[in-house]
Amino acid sequence: MNTDLKKLELWFVTGSQHLYGPETLKRVDEDSKQIAQGLSRSKQVPVKVVFKPVVTTPAAIYDICMTANAAANCIGVITWMHTFSPAKMWIAGLNALTKPFVHLHTQFNRDIPWADIDMDFMNLNQSAHGDREFGFICARLRRSRKIIVGHWQEERVQAELGVWARAACAWHDAQGGKVARFGDNMRQVAVTEGDKVQAQIQLGYSVEGFGVGDLVARVNAITDRRVDRLVSQYESTYRIVKAGQDGKQHEALREAARIELGMRTFLEEGGFKAFTTTFEDLHGLKQLPGLAVQRLMADGYGFGAEGDWKTAALVRAMKVMAAGLPGGTSFMEDYTYHLDPAGPKVLGAHMLEVCPSISENTPSLEVHPLGIGGKDDPCRLVFNVPSGPGLNASIIDMGNRFRMIVNEVEVVPPDAPLPKLPVARVVWVPKPNLQTGAAAWILAGGAHHTGFSIALTSQHLEDFAEMAGIECLLIDAATTIRELKKEIRANEVYYLLAKGL
Ligand code: MN
Repeated sequence: MNTDLKKLELWFVTGSQHLYGPETLKRVDEDSKQIAQGLSRSKQVPVKVVFKPVVTTPAAIYDICMTANAAANCIGVITWMHTFSPAKMWIAGLNALTKPFVHLHTQFNRDIPWADIDMDFMNLNQSAHGDREFGFICARLRRSRKIIVGHWQEERVQAELGVWARAACAWHDAQGGKVARFGDNMRQVAVTEGDKVQAQIQLGYSVEGFGVGDLVARVNAITDRRVDRLVSQYESTYRIVKAGQDGKQHEALREAARIELGMRTFLEEGGFKAFTTTFEDLHGLKQLPGLAVQRLMADGYGFGAEGDWKTAALVRAMKVMAAGLPGGTSFMEDYTYHLDPAGPKVLGAHMLEVCPSISENTPSLEVHPLGIGGKDDPCRLVFNVPSGPGLNASIIDMGNRFRMIVNEVEVVPPDAPLPKLPVARVVWVPKPNLQTGAAAWILAGGAHHTGFSIALTSQHLEDFAEMAGIECLLIDAATTIRELKKEIRANEVYYLLAKGL
């Protein structure tokens, strides 16, 4: 999977006007180039920041916006008004711009040179009012955008830009992205359903269904030599836990390897970025794909179980946002509670499919029976997750809109070892606490499936939701049920009316 974000570009576009004469504009150009280079070199910014010559006319602004729209590697635009740029000039360009943009409200000089300041300095450092004029036209056009305030060399400013850029990378990745579904939805499950046409219109990715036989054909075509090679890779990568007869276990590993190779071939041939499976449709597969799904997720594929295509696409988006960051991201399910009032917490897991990118140490590779699905004993990686901040995110279809729900959590160690639990698991305390966090999540209609991450912050997800134009409800340390109810009620009205605009 291609998740090398440095191949992607943010275009740095500076606004000005002709009033200042060629000398000043030359200086504006040079300053802007220096800022673009500084941002591009920042460790906080995962993409290339590309300087574009200063724009001073409506035609030049329109032209740069149209060029950005068509540029394959351009994920978005940074706008900044070094000097005053009368904003009627921006109407046509902003109306045409289809890529996300961030308004960087900065100034070339950090400090006022108190002793030496004169009108030349004042004329060159005008973003304090120039950016307000630009802000007005963005507000007047109802253009959604991120506004970042502060000096461009400040670490916090670069970090905010980096977070937004990661969300823009995920947005770019979703446009034209494809999700493969092996089989359909788990029968009668509601939250994993939704409007796939609307998802493509709003979120950019297409969801394509396949009979599991199409996958089985690829699995059966895998040669024994390739299976042998992958099994020896398993043996050198994981701790293999011996259980039962050696011969039977080895056969299970070989079958898991064959499924992984078949799935990988299928996804690569079709150019898919995410996929779903369902245990209700496994005809011709000897095991429920567990290890295969785990390893494909670790390579950057999005995944959703039981036909959950929305979560599959969300996990993929989160993996793109998190590329290169410490920590990992996985498909997850709220599984079981510890309701001791002294320390209530959630145990998250799934039947098998948890991504080893969130593992604390080398996972163990184990083969155990699985009651659900009625198939041979499947292989799976088993591990714990390191303590620290994390989050769960969900996207649901409300009928008239998509709603994202994000809950910040604190990952904690299990109270005791879990020697008999044969799946990867993570224990967390939702913010602000389990009582309010779970009530808020359920009130909002959040799914039991989530994208779980210890690499991202809720800001990544909020920025992404803003780009997608979808509702976003954040459940964090400040959440109260009373306020959340108000927010949900206000959103019901807003999205009803906004649709008509
Ligand atoms: Mn599930």
